[in-house]
Amino acid sequence: MSYARVLCVGLVGVTGHVVQVEADLAPGLPAVVISGLPDSALHEARDRVRAAIVNSGQRWPNRRITLNLLPATLPKFGSAFDLAIAAAVLGGSGELPLVALDGVAILGELGLDGTVRPVRGVLPMVAAAARAGIERVIVPVDNAAEAAVIPGLRVRAVDTLHRLVTYVRDGTPLAAPPPADPPAAPGGPDLAEVAGQGVGRRAVEVAAAGGHHLALLGPPGAGKTMLAERMPSILPELDDEAALEVTALHSIAGLLPPGGRLLRRPPFQAPHHSATVPALVGGGSGLARPGAVSLAHRGVLFLDEAPEFSKGALEALRQPLEAGRVQLARSHGGTEYPARSQLVLAANPCPCARPAGDASCECTPLVRRRYLGRLSGPLLDRIDVQVTLLPVRAAELMDAAVAPESSATVAARVAAARRAAAERWAGSGRRLNAEIPGPQLRQPPWRLPAADTRELRGRLDAGSLSARGFDRVIRMAWTIADLDGRARPDGEDVREAIQLRTGERV
Ligand SMILES: [Zn+2]
Repeated sequence: MSYARVLCVGLVGVTGHVVQVEADLAPGLPAVVISGLPDSALHEARDRVRAAIVNSGQRWPNRRITLNLLPATLPKFGSAFDLAIAAAVLGGSGELPLVALDGVAILGELGLDGTVRPVRGVLPMVAAAARAGIERVIVPVDNAAEAAVIPGLRVRAVDTLHRLVTYVRDGTPLAAPPPADPPAAPGGPDLAEVAGQGVGRRAVEVAAAGGHHLALLGPPGAGKTMLAERMPSILPELDDEAALEVTALHSIAGLLPPGGRLLRRPPFQAPHHSATVPALVGGGSGLARPGAVSLAHRGVLFLDEAPEFSKGALEALRQPLEAGRVQLARSHGGTEYPARSQLVLAANPCPCARPAGDASCECTPLVRRRYLGRLSGPLLDRIDVQVTLLPVRAAELMDAAVAPESSATVAARVAAARRAAAERWAGSGRRLNAEIPGPQLRQPPWRLPAADTRELRGRLDAGSLSARGFDRVIRMAWTIADLDGRARPDGEDVREAIQLRTGERV
């Protein structure tokens, strides 16, 4: 027999597609031809596979070998096809009877010595195999725990090509994946550790409940970072669909923690202000790596010292934050990753970053305006909650009578508010107040009574608030009512929302 076919899985964005690797061996001048839209890594696969086969003690067929990856129209990235290609070549040359691999998807990169190396994106690949009705997969040993997360599949692990050969030829059993770790106890920083900061705590709670983007302004030492880091602790756990998406993105980035579990907590990403554009939005050769904005999908993207990010970086973030996804240009068509994260940014009022009231600050009002102005166009306009924090005074810290609320207490209110909003907007396919289009909120039955929005309309007429800002205040007013367990916002909620938007007392 001079033809063989082996199943593998390719990724386009986070979506896996079953790929058939065909090998045809014909008499003629020894050569290897690969067809089916291969990227450069696939061409290198030819040399890797050849060396791996020879160094595993197998015979490399000296014939004309045609490798075809189907469907041909599907772009194929990365090195996960190596092991399937090796099996197809050995099957096609008659070295290996492939009956044992019937209906089995095989993933893995080969080293020149025949070791099977882990690949990125195994979780979404295996999930796609299961959706396509495949019941058995063989994966690199280092990816076995991750593959076993997908239910209903028989996962087996290999560490070398030789191991695969002896399994196929002699039936020598392959290793099963390790048992999954028990679910981790919820940990991480807790709001109970933040004393005082009434305004900041309220802003974080409202932002979490409504899905609003949040800007924390204020001098160093005001607790901006402390509050931002605690945002995930008050967000609800991810549901099955979201957990699978988030875990898949971290799998593609090669950043999945060991343990073989879905990521259930909303992720928190805090890229440094020196981060490159690819680190923020994704990129790289082969299988594109998701950037921070996608790794924060369904979680929090925190930009500390936001004005220090390069203009290009801030500009690159604008479109993904608005669209909820990132488009990456590739040589064979684009790749798209989801990027629906909640933005939290922190900024000092001036570039010298001295504490509030420090006499040595010589920044002029113009310098200060320019500094925050770096954020205004691209990002600040899209941020609902904008509050200024002041350093906590000693009196607040010493006030032992009021113990700060824990994350668990606040999370319960946030969860209830989110449930109320999801129920209200159920018909629109949206869940969070921050996602509701402005026109919908300005029309019956959701339009608020004129008396409750008088102050707001005044600001719009006076030009101190944009039309976009108007809608943002209304959205936050709904969130404030949801947090309080009331069916509709009143004038008081609108007033608090104006404060959260402008930082002014009204
Ligand atoms: Zn200054």
